[in-house]
Amino acid sequence: MEKIAVYPGSFDPVTNGHVDIIKRSAFIFSEVIVAVFINPGKNPTFSIKDRVKMLQEATKDIPNVRVDSFSGLLTEYARAKGAHVIIRGLRALADFEKEFQQALMYKKLNEDVEILFLMTSQEYSFLSSSLVKEVASFGGSIENLVPEFVDKYLKDYFS
Ligand code: ADP
Repeated sequence: MEKIAVYPGSFDPVTNGHVDIIKRSAFIFSEVIVAVFINPGKNPTFSIKDRVKMLQEATKDIPNVRVDSFSGLLTEYARAKGAHVIIRGLRALADFEKEFQQALMYKKLNEDVEILFLMTSQEYSFLSSSLVKEVASFGGSIENLVPEFVDKYLKDYFS
């Protein structure tokens, strides 16, 4: 049976922590849709187009991964794509409460969906898009924390 999973997020920008979750998900599911959330309530650093482009570049060698963007309810998006699994990554304890609340809401909105949490890999447990941006904005090295071309995007953005 074709098993499709959606991995949603802001990906502003994609980090190696995200890529790690994508690779591990692609190992489990026949298709993984990485879905960039178009959130009018947030003020992102990078445009949807740039975030999708960076994700496409970061996942180009994984054949069963597709990058897309969506707005509105994630549960409706998943339904429309025929996906029964939503993947989220968990880092420190701090992620838990928000994710727990969100997962219960997803389930309420779409009973057919399962929310699957993948534990971060140790080397990325402290890594977030916002931390990477903060370090890059002060000219610090983010080598090995983001794909090379994302490093370049960040350098261009903050120069
Ligand atoms: P959101 O705004 O939806 O939290 P993010 O782009 O920050 O979007 O994160 C998308 C998903 O990836 C979330 O489930 C988040 O917990 C997870 N994630 C982010 N960074 C890491 C990391 N370093 N290791 C594992 N999971 C991560």
